[in-house]
Amino acid sequence: KESLDEGLQKTKDNFFSKITKAVAGKSTVDEEVLDNLEEALITADVGLDTTVQIIERIEQRVARDKYVSTSELNSILQAEIETTLVDAPSSNVYDFHTDLPTKPYVILVVGVNGVGKTTTIGKLSYNFKKAGKQVLLGAADTFRAAAVDQLTIWSERTGVPIVKQAMGSDPAAVAFDTVQSALSRGSDVVLIDTAGRLHNKAYLMDELSKIKRSVQKVIPDAPHEVLLVLDGSTGQNALEQAKQFTAATDVTALAITKLDGTAKGGVVLAIANQFKIPVKFIGVGEKMEDLLVFDKHEFVDSLFS
Ligand code: GDP
Repeated sequence: KESLDEGLQKTKDNFFSKITKAVAGKSTVDEEVLDNLEEALITADVGLDTTVQIIERIEQRVARDKYVSTSELNSILQAEIETTLVDAPSSNVYDFHTDLPTKPYVILVVGVNGVGKTTTIGKLSYNFKKAGKQVLLGAADTFRAAAVDQLTIWSERTGVPIVKQAMGSDPAAVAFDTVQSALSRGSDVVLIDTAGRLHNKAYLMDELSKIKRSVQKVIPDAPHEVLLVLDGSTGQNALEQAKQFTAATDVTALAITKLDGTAKGGVVLAIANQFKIPVKFIGVGEKMEDLLVFDKHEFVDSLFS
């Protein structure tokens, strides 16, 4: 909770100052306040669709209760944001200690370069290992030398083995090797790094489906999870990338990184609400301890505390 509050500090300040401005000089919630609030939420990266849903709910409440004091607005807003997220699929807070449904459990990690994919894999391996699980990394982002190097550094840092090949080798072959190696080592969980190159949708689909097919040669129902990593500090851009990736492949979980040091954390609300895919993890720093499991109630609570 503390690291969440700390990680969200800039987003919280941003949120608070925008809401304060929206009600400045007003004692009751009227149309003008609602307009200001709508603008405040949109500029706080909550996203148009989600903002409209929230504002409509508050409007209904104002219509029902006739008089709503602006001093109540914070708690009303918090309640309505919570309601908006009730149907979001992230109701189960992830637990690294829970037994994985199958062994090895294969997680394909996708996302555009620079969003924090490698770092997130490093943090995940740290958490899985701490929970007593045998982890294996696969360096299937073979397009950039730095990607393999960085993953190797993380494997050393967390003491988790890695399967890699020379730079430029076939990513599908690396993925195949990794899963085979996981079987023979008896690994519990496999994290495969991929090069998420978003040149165009067809290209991305093709690349990811090649990797999937080669993994399926070894384990027919793998990958068991496709985790899309998004950079929260890019705000609406992250929302856009989520749209593109979910259209190109079956994304089953989301991780949103770099929420520390950004005021754009409101985008988490937009992403959690708009996609029928659970946000499972959030990144609040560069260290291995800086990955938090996402809890929507805790998140909203933190925004308003
Ligand atoms: P990749 O290209 O997607 O694999 O991205 P990297 O994992 O190499 O991360 C890119 C940069 O973002 C690195 O400098 C990371 O240390 C940094 N980074 C990743 N996650 C976070 C985070 O949650 N918070 C902060 N502040 N930096 C992060």
